[in-house]
Amino acid sequence: MAKVLCVLYDDPVDGYPTSYPRNDLPRIDHYPGGQTVPSPRAVDFTPGHLLGSVSGELGLRPFLESGGHTFVVTSDKDGADSTFERELPDADVVISQPFWPAYLTAERIAKARNLKLAITAGIGSDHVDLDAALARDITVAEVTFSNSISVAEHVVMMTLSLVRNYLPSHQWVLDGGWNIADCVSRSYDIEGMQVGTVAAGRIGLAVLRRLKPFDVGLHYTDRHRLPESVEEELGLTFHESAADMVPHCDVVTINAPLHPETEGLFDDELIGTMKRGAYLINTARARICDRDAVDRALRDGHLAGYAGDVWFPQPAPPDHPWRTMPHQGMTPHISGSSLSAQARYAAGTREILEAWLTGTPIREEYLIVDGGHLAGAGAHSYSTTPPK
Ligand code: NDP
Repeated sequence: MAKVLCVLYDDPVDGYPTSYPRNDLPRIDHYPGGQTVPSPRAVDFTPGHLLGSVSGELGLRPFLESGGHTFVVTSDKDGADSTFERELPDADVVISQPFWPAYLTAERIAKARNLKLAITAGIGSDHVDLDAALARDITVAEVTFSNSISVAEHVVMMTLSLVRNYLPSHQWVLDGGWNIADCVSRSYDIEGMQVGTVAAGRIGLAVLRRLKPFDVGLHYTDRHRLPESVEEELGLTFHESAADMVPHCDVVTINAPLHPETEGLFDDELIGTMKRGAYLINTARARICDRDAVDRALRDGHLAGYAGDVWFPQPAPPDHPWRTMPHQGMTPHISGSSLSAQARYAAGTREILEAWLTGTPIREEYLIVDGGHLAGAGAHSYSTTPPK
């Protein structure tokens, strides 16, 4: 029997919801490109309910406990006295969401003597020290595609809200004002702008597709080039690197995983090559950008705006500079945790557990690390630290 340790974010401050604004979710069977949505044998939750917080339990308790497994759920994840750290030494499986990441550092992996499987309920497994997982032959799996479209929608929203100066304008309404000149003195149309994505994977390509009807010029850089037919259909300009691309763009969106190749990519130097007045949207991972370089570029006016939902660490401390820097549209890490996304990644987590507990293979596309190697989606999109 396995011990499954699951770290989830806290319930709403007013308590776990007893009702929801909508009765159901649209039915989606396939993602763009044909991959099927998660297909566990059954689920014990209502799609559209809050599953990512501690009381939601990703809907896993009946399934795991009926199989005789131990299921521990906590939001208390940081520090040596945390419930997570205390429960970790005999856990076989750890489940965590990137929004409220249970950082599985090399030190914690060394303490987790029984750990065999780390599941990311969502996408992006950089909160796991992948080098340590490789060395210990721990399988790392995530629910590939489960919230890629959710994030793409968020990127479009943040792009428009920055360029059109939506949030400060809304604030004038809340404050009882009618200050049109204050609102529009930073407001532009996106039409005709040049928009580039760093990475055109599941999210990046979905962003490009969604922005196409806005009559913008579309650019991308990626390790692998998209098929010619897609480049032609969307009128894409490919650039060999982010450094080649960003000087041409009015809006840059970052949609790559955090790994050694992308960590710290947007530093003073790269941001300095962006157009004055460019906008930067980062819903990928905070550490792809140099925290203080972003703050500086907003304060000195080189960037006209920055938006995103990813921070380091998470939760961000109250004095994190991105809370107070000007011209930003930050949210907590929410873009991939809509109720729609939760239903998919909770089902995907169950699918991974069903496979692992019965000794059947986990879907190839869900794997990041397996058998001591980068595998599946991980082999395509990640890199490891080269040996010193
Ligand atoms: P995909 O794996 O589909 O796409 C990632 C893309 O990044 C791939 O095309 C990959 O290239 C490319 N890439 C990797 N390294 C580089 C590099 N050095 N330069 C340029 N491109 C690179 O993942 P998704 O699109 O679904 O997700 C991307 C990331 O977004 C996740 O890893 C996660 O960090 C973040 N995310 C954030 C969420 C949120 O809630 N804010 C939710 C979901 C994801 P290739 O495969 O061609 O080698």
